[in-house]
Amino acid sequence: MSNRTQPYLLTPGPITTSMSTKEAMLCDWGSWDQDFNKITAEVCERILDLANAKGTHVCVPVQGSGSFAVEATLGTMVPKDGKVLVLMNGAYGQRIGKSLQYMGREYCFIDMGDYEPPKPEEVAKKLAEDSMITHVAVVYCETSSGILNPVAEIAEVVKQAGRGLIIDAMSAFGALPIDAQKLPFDALISAANKCIEGVPGFGYAIVREDIMQGSQGNAHSLCLDLYEQWVYMAKTGQWRFTPPTHVVAAFLQALKEHEAEGGVQGRYARYARNRDRMVMGMRALGFKTLLEDQWLSPIITTFFSPTDKNFEFTDFYNRLKVHNFIIYPGKLTEAESFRLGHIGQLYDQQVDQLLDAVAVVLDEMQVSL
Ligand SMILES: *Cc1c(COP(=O)(O)O)cnc(C)c1O
Repeated sequence: MSNRTQPYLLTPGPITTSMSTKEAMLCDWGSWDQDFNKITAEVCERILDLANAKGTHVCVPVQGSGSFAVEATLGTMVPKDGKVLVLMNGAYGQRIGKSLQYMGREYCFIDMGDYEPPKPEEVAKKLAEDSMITHVAVVYCETSSGILNPVAEIAEVVKQAGRGLIIDAMSAFGALPIDAQKLPFDALISAANKCIEGVPGFGYAIVREDIMQGSQGNAHSLCLDLYEQWVYMAKTGQWRFTPPTHVVAAFLQALKEHEAEGGVQGRYARYARNRDRMVMGMRALGFKTLLEDQWLSPIITTFFSPTDKNFEFTDFYNRLKVHNFIIYPGKLTEAESFRLGHIGQLYDQQVDQLLDAVAVVLDEMQVSL
């Protein structure tokens, strides 16, 4: 951790990466070259391993940010005459709905507002009522509030109803346990710049192989056709169009560091410790969290902004940046809030520095809590 004149990112991605992950980008690879193909293959193998998905599922990476991977997965999994039930409780669930609208797929939704978790019974009821629904889409950690949705219960209900499940596990994969042999899903999506701690530039889906095999011709988009990407990659080892070579190389390094930290368990432990330390310290300063303890994820936490008239988010943000911390605005419709991320290269020392900085900044702003 010798790189620190740069700010720490307390955001849901891109996040603070290790120096060695950044250094892995100091090479130019030929996108068709064997050396690069090997990197891609190892990345996919490792992702499948992390989800205990080898032999049953395939991993398909796709260029772009996480939303590109979500859109590619939805478009490839859901046939043109399919219908998706989208479980919304924040911005990312809403974005799934918007994507479906753009690509002309029919959808309906259960909207729980800013942060209430979806209820499995309600999902079961909706599926029983509407036989046109072919798929359910759910967000694992809804990063807009930080809530962890009950995906295992939802998955069970969806399986009972014989429908397909698509999980946006963007900000959960790598830090929260996902076992593809126990959690029934058609596809699960994440991206390079979240809990694996790579740099941004591509996303990936873990897809049940039999489902993938049946998805030819579904896609609405040439570039976002996961089926074609999968077939081409299986045949040639290459991405269909120019891959973000440096990003993929950095991601392999990040995956190795993830393994060295103890894999999903190790990462979960560090992020949970970051959360506990941050939440405890912020509460000691007088801040309140949006969610009760049982719903707090080890990914990101939403805090209510102080009601003191001297508090202004942009000012707070800029002052914390002087102390080398970049925080994240809130996304609630009802109340003023901000978010602090727990993911990335953050340890006790950074959390303590952050808490010190927050105390100093509040004092400068003359905000009392
Ligand atoms: C980060 C994230 C995404 C993807 O967002 P991009 O801005 O496209 O990277 C999607 N869903 C969730 C839950 C996320 O946290």
